[in-house]
Amino acid sequence: MTAGYGETVELLRHPVTAGVTRDLTWRRAQLRALRALVVEHEDELTRAVVADVGKPALEVRLTELSFVVQEIDTLLANLARWTAPRRVALPATHLPGSAAVHLVPKGVVLIIGPWNYPVQLVLAPLAGALAAGNTVVVKPSEHTPTVAALLAELVGRHLPADAVQVVTGGIPETTALLRERWDHIFFTGSSAVGRVVMRAAAEHLTPVTLELGGKSPTFVDGTVDPDLAARRIAWGKFTNAGQSCVAPDYVMVTPDAREGLVAALDDAIADFFGDDPSASADLGRIVNDHHHARLVELVGASGGVVTTGGGHDVDDGHYLAPTVLTGVAHDSPVMTEEIFGPVLPVVEVADARAAVDLVNARPRPLALYVFSDDAATRRLFEERTTSGGLAHGVPLIHLAVPGLPFGGVGESGMGRYLGRASIDELSHHRSVLSKPLRPDTLAAIYPPHPTWKASM
Ligand code: NAD
Repeated sequence: MTAGYGETVELLRHPVTAGVTRDLTWRRAQLRALRALVVEHEDELTRAVVADVGKPALEVRLTELSFVVQEIDTLLANLARWTAPRRVALPATHLPGSAAVHLVPKGVVLIIGPWNYPVQLVLAPLAGALAAGNTVVVKPSEHTPTVAALLAELVGRHLPADAVQVVTGGIPETTALLRERWDHIFFTGSSAVGRVVMRAAAEHLTPVTLELGGKSPTFVDGTVDPDLAARRIAWGKFTNAGQSCVAPDYVMVTPDAREGLVAALDDAIADFFGDDPSASADLGRIVNDHHHARLVELVGASGGVVTTGGGHDVDDGHYLAPTVLTGVAHDSPVMTEEIFGPVLPVVEVADARAAVDLVNARPRPLALYVFSDDAATRRLFEERTTSGGLAHGVPLIHLAVPGLPFGGVGESGMGRYLGRASIDELSHHRSVLSKPLRPDTLAAIYPPHPTWKASM
C-alpha cells in the first residue's frame, strides 16, 4: 500500500498558517523562481516532452514553455492589483463603516495533471496557486515519466520544500494523495477521473477545479472561404497530433460548403505535412500503444469514408496520419467518444440551427468553434448554445488571451483559471466588515422590542 502524504501536507501548511504566504514578496519570489526554472531549463524540458509525447520541439517551446512564462509574467505584472482588497459600498443602514472582499490564500493546493501538455498543464495552475499565496503539491502524469522526474528534480532545486512538492506516480499515488485533506484540488484530465477526484474531495468538503475533456464541435457554412477555414481547422486539429483538450473534435458543415471544405482540408494537410506526413518534422506522434490502438480502431469502426490520411505505424513512434472522415453515423464511436487524436470527422448538417440542435443534444463542450461570415449565425451560436469557450474563426488560441478565463462547463468541467481568473479561483474570497462602536447605530434594533416594532 502506498504511504500517506500527511507529513508533506503538514510541511506545506506551515507557511500558510504562519502568514508567510500572505506577503506579496513571498509570492513574487516563488513566481520568479518558477520562471527561472522554465527559462534556465528550456532545453531539458523540451527534450523531456519530445521523449515522452513525441511532439515537435518547436511546439513544446510555443505551446508549453512560452505559454507558462507569459502566464507568470502576467501574474507578476498584475499581482498587487489583482490581490488588493475589493471595496464594497455599505447600505445606508450599515453606516458608518466599511466593507471589502479580501482575497486570502486557500491553503494547501493539490494539482493533478494529464500527459498531453505535461509541463504547461501543471506549471500554469502552479503559477496561479502561488500567486494566490498557496503552497502546492504537483502530481504530473505517470504517462510522461521523463517530464515528471525532471519536474520533481527542478522544483526541488528552484523552489523551497515548504512551498512546492512534486509527487510522481500513477493511480495508487494519486489515490493516496486524494485521501489527504486539501484546501483546493485542481485537476486536469478526463471526465471519468474528474468524477473520482470530485468524490474524494467530497469526503473533506474540498473545493475543486475540474479542467476536463470532451468533444469540441466546429461549425462551417458556405459564407466563409473554405481554404482559410480549412487551414485554421487543420492547424487546430493536428497540433500535438490532435491530443489537445480544445482541439476541434468534429466538423459540422452545411451542404453548400461540404465538398469545398473536404477538398480544402486535404490541401491544407498536404501543405502542412507534405505528401508523406510520416516524414514531416512538424507532425507529432500518439503518446502510447493504448491510445494508438484506440484511435486506429475508432477509424475502423466509424463506418465512414477516409478522404485524407488513414495511414498508421505503431513502430514509427506511434504514427497516425492526419485523417479526415466523411459519412460517419452520428452514433458511431468516433462521434460519441472524445477522439483526442488526428482524426477529423466531417458531418453534414442541414443548416446552423441543425448544428445548434446537435451541440445541444450532447454534453456541454469545452470549446465551440464557428466559421461563418453571417452575423446572425454567429449570434445564434452565442445565444443558443453553451460551452467552456466560444471562438469565431479560429480554434485553440482563445486560451492564450490574457484576460480570458479558461475552463469548462457541465461535462467539460467546472471553475476557470489563467491570469486574474487563477487568482480568483485559488483564493478564498473573505468578506470583511468594519464598523466603529460609536455611534451605536444598532441601538434602534436591540431588544426589548416595543410592540409597534414587532408588527413591522
Ligand atoms: P486522465 O484523467 O487519465 O489522467 C489525469 C491524471 O489523473 C493523471 O495524473 C493520472 O495519474 C490521474 N489518474 C488517472 N486515473 C486515476 C484514478 N483512477 N484515480 C486517481 N487519479 C487518477 O487524463 P489523461 O489521459 O492524462 O489526459 C487526457 C484527458 O484530459 C482528455 O480527456 C483531455 O480532454 C483532458 N484534458 C483537459 C484539459 C483542460 O484544460 N480542460 C487539458 C488537457 C487534457
